[in-house]
Amino acid sequence: MSSSTTPVERLLDVRRIYVEPAALEHERGREILARFPDAERIEIASHWNIPGLRGNEGNVEDWLRIKRETLVLGVLKSVRLRPNGRSSDFIAPSHANGCAMSCAYCYVPRRKGFANPITVFANADQILRATERHVGRQGVKPAPNQCDPHAWVYDIGENSDASVDAAISDNVRDYVELFRRLPTAKASFATKEVNRALLDYDPRGRTRIRFSLMPPDVARQLDVRAAPVADRIAAIDDFVAAGYEVHVNFSPVVVRDGWLEEWRELLDALDDGIGPEAKAQLKAEIIFLTHNEQMHEVNLGWHPRAEELLWTPEIQEVKRSQTGGFNVRYKRGFKGARVRELTDLMAERLPYCEARYAF
Ligand code: SF4
Repeated sequence: MSSSTTPVERLLDVRRIYVEPAALEHERGREILARFPDAERIEIASHWNIPGLRGNEGNVEDWLRIKRETLVLGVLKSVRLRPNGRSSDFIAPSHANGCAMSCAYCYVPRRKGFANPITVFANADQILRATERHVGRQGVKPAPNQCDPHAWVYDIGENSDASVDAAISDNVRDYVELFRRLPTAKASFATKEVNRALLDYDPRGRTRIRFSLMPPDVARQLDVRAAPVADRIAAIDDFVAAGYEVHVNFSPVVVRDGWLEEWRELLDALDDGIGPEAKAQLKAEIIFLTHNEQMHEVNLGWHPRAEELLWTPEIQEVKRSQTGGFNVRYKRGFKGARVRELTDLMAERLPYCEARYAF
């Protein structure tokens, strides 16, 4: 790999694009195809129904190859915004879904399987218009909440990693530019990648990037294909200087022997790795691990070492999910005590960093 290879180039080598014909009615769709002139094009009726790309057919080598080499170009049929309330006030319509990475705990494959390459939506114009209208209807935020003291926060990366998506199209740039001119709202997305191309987007404080962090030893087992944790920390000052609001997501928090000591080291590395400007605006979300029985079964087949961390029934409880499967999470009282330990540790090691929420 050449030293000029960016992390995003490391993840993608697009050779095949599945195309919904309707996507080519949009300029964005034509632009994306033009970016990958050598890729084979395969016409599809629907981006949802492509044999071999959905579900967990095949094996991990197939899934990772598909993630690297395949792109789906479609149209988002239902351009809807929904309330959220935890990390953001609203979930903005997806500009993309699927992911080139393969985190073992990710909830995206719970619905769609691991072989789930990036689907990029060509109707960015409709997506942006719907979002702008929605922001307009909200007016000024009447009172501070855990999402933000002033702005309505819109998550633009619920089902994908926008840092990687930005290497494929200008959809993320367009979202950043939209929120730059909306004084009552801001965009937000979590990421495990560092794409320095975003440093040129000029967000003027209206986009919040949340770098997801966890102790590096755990990340090496769980964050498959993602950027090293040290690289994510090292990027924070640059993104703040470029005009982003930068927060951190401590997620998922995995409890194992010695976990709190690992977190102490991570918090200290973060404290050492960022400057005063970043510290003055830093906030955190803390999200303890949830897992899922079906994902556990699939992971046992390709990444059993991850399951040693993720599937710990002695400290977890089971809850039936809305879709009928079983989700697991740390037992109630046990979890409450661990949440307090981590928030206390954060208050000690990063006293300037408010936890926007912890659960
Ligand atoms: S980067 Fe995010 S969307 Fe992608 S696999 Fe990891 S958790 Fe899932």
